[in-house]
Amino acid sequence: MTDNYLKLEFLSLACNQAFARDAVAAFCVYKNPSLSVISDIKTAVSEAVANCAVHAYGGEAGPVMVECDMQGDLLHISVTDRGRGIEDVQKALQPFYTTLPGDERSGMGFTIMQTFMDEFSVQSQRGEGTVVRMAKQLNAEVENV
Ligand code: ATP
Ligand code: MG
Repeated sequence: MTDNYLKLEFLSLACNQAFARDAVAAFCVYKNPSLSVISDIKTAVSEAVANCAVHAYGGEAGPVMVECDMQGDLLHISVTDRGRGIEDVQKALQPFYTTLPGDERSGMGFTIMQTFMDEFSVQSQRGEGTVVRMAKQLNAEVENV
């Protein structure tokens, strides 16, 4: 059940990457997450949005949708593009796998998202686009005390 949500749509320009991660961080501040949880979320959102710019639209400007859905203290985030899609998702998820090796890419974006978030999945269709879904428990450290 949704308690609160945020929907953003913007062009995949480099200048919007910081905007997107800061907007998501600002959205969840009212839940008082720790700085480390905020930092994990910002990093994951940055990586997902960067992938839209670099891979989905190949450096051209295209639409990116970021949606946040708060359910209790669990923040769900989806990052959607309508770009070229991923041919083999399982392969793309492997650490160090990149289709742009000569472009300063380390192939670690998906691995970082997976590591920093509590839930992570990718759905993609060639020529249609990609949806990255992630979730993070905002009060994880409080629970562990
Ligand atoms: P890095 O993130 O370390 O700069 P990278 O972007 O290549 O390198 P990942 O973010 O892990 O590494 O992505 C792995 C591969 O998955 C990419 O090289 C690309 O082929 C594909 N990919 C990722 N996101 C998308 C997307 N939104 N649309 C199309 N292809 C994508
Ligand atoms: Mg990447």
